[in-house]
Amino acid sequence: MAKKSASDTKHPLKRFSDEQPASYKEPAPFEHKGADANGHENPLHSMMQRFDKAAEILQLDPGIYKYLSTPVKCVIVSIPITMEDGSIEVFEGYRVIHNDILGPSKGGIRYSPDVNLDEIKALAAWMTWKCAVIDIPFGGAKGGVRCDPRKLTQRQLESITRRYTANMLDVFGPDRDIPAPDVNTNEQVMAWILDTYSMHMKRTEPGVVTGKPLVLGGSRGRREATGRGVMHSTLCGLSKLGIAPNKATVAVEGFGNVGSISAASLYEKGAKIVAISDVTGGYYNAKGIDIDAAIKWSDEHDHLLEGFAGGEKISTDELLTVKCDVLIPAAREDRITDHNAAKVQAKLIVEGANGPTNAGADSILESMGVMVIPDILANAGGVKVSYFEWVQNRMGYYWDLETVNKRLEDAMVLAFDRVYENSLKHGVSLRLSSYILAIDKVARTLKLRGIYG
Ligand code: NAD
Repeated sequence: MAKKSASDTKHPLKRFSDEQPASYKEPAPFEHKGADANGHENPLHSMMQRFDKAAEILQLDPGIYKYLSTPVKCVIVSIPITMEDGSIEVFEGYRVIHNDILGPSKGGIRYSPDVNLDEIKALAAWMTWKCAVIDIPFGGAKGGVRCDPRKLTQRQLESITRRYTANMLDVFGPDRDIPAPDVNTNEQVMAWILDTYSMHMKRTEPGVVTGKPLVLGGSRGRREATGRGVMHSTLCGLSKLGIAPNKATVAVEGFGNVGSISAASLYEKGAKIVAISDVTGGYYNAKGIDIDAAIKWSDEHDHLLEGFAGGEKISTDELLTVKCDVLIPAAREDRITDHNAAKVQAKLIVEGANGPTNAGADSILESMGVMVIPDILANAGGVKVSYFEWVQNRMGYYWDLETVNKRLEDAMVLAFDRVYENSLKHGVSLRLSSYILAIDKVARTLKLRGIYG
């Protein structure tokens, strides 16, 4: 994140008093095309292909199919910001609520130059299925702002965040829709959202976001929760494959929140981390990478591994096909595809990222006998502890780290076991099994609630 600028002292809330209402778009059923001009599969297409397969196995009622494949709400807002030189820049922000049948919607906010509505729609739907799989009373949502945080000052990031939040006042709320961090957003961004929302509500409302700083009502263990959850999923998968953790070799793509903590937690369990990567490239060491040293390096170098000397330099694509037992893609979507899946050497893939494997790769990996623990299960530890955070905010009573971590472990192991048993019952992959369980739960709840209208 960019360094603080001198003009940070100016409080930007004043500018929100003449706020424009958010522009509501009529939600339309998911329309999705195969791939974009760069050959990247549309994540919505990937999500819907899995959804369709699960719907067929469940023999989902056509009306319910239509309901569950249509987002409840899509909001697009413009975010005008006055830059330091007095010029005005306009950014675009999104929030998609895919479904709120199980409860208030929940999902992260990402800041990235290539964020688009289709990506946000897919991520929102994945959140619905994830909340159902990990058994929390939340629906699914996702948000994003199209911007490049690396090119923004701290003041500009704060202004974008506050204006985005002000534009979303009718959407966000502890009983309506609860954001959290995602790619390029962090505790500080959540603190700004909390503050902006609270200023407008005229009371401090900690439950409006999760993943916030501890002092503002954050939960112990939230920052590490997704990575620790990935570690528990990996241990469950390894045990089914009969591989002891201290005999396992692991490659981790992405060294941000999820990747670095997944790597560190597995390293702690005795696994040998043979490869890591981030946006600057990959680093391979057959003898094992010293993960504490890699984290220290990354912390000291603006959260980048560039220049890290603990391994031979490889490309980010090469990391995906190195010899290892476990591959943890924890960077972005669409990384393991029909083009490179056949070259994967891992026996187990644990999806730390959302949508890192495209639908075309599923059957290739299945035919190769690779066990894939899907995103909606593997990285659900983050939203599980976000739920714990929201519960603690409502209780006004805060748990110790041991309690959070134990409840997280129990939840991850239970969810894995349910998905595994269900996959045996239907003779399907863990991915399809997760979708079947999630869609069935949401569909049954929808039937109970009925359709108002
Ligand atoms: P982050 O911004 O902290 O880290 C992303 C990492 O990926 C960075 O190290 C970046 O350098 C790296 N990266 C980007 N492009 C890359 C490439 N082509 N090759 C290799 N590395 C690359 O983000 P995060 O919070 O760790 O999220 C990562 C993924 O996990 C996203 O898909 C996100 O949706 C998902 N996720 C995050 C959470 C959470 O709690 N943070 C929870 C569930 C899922």
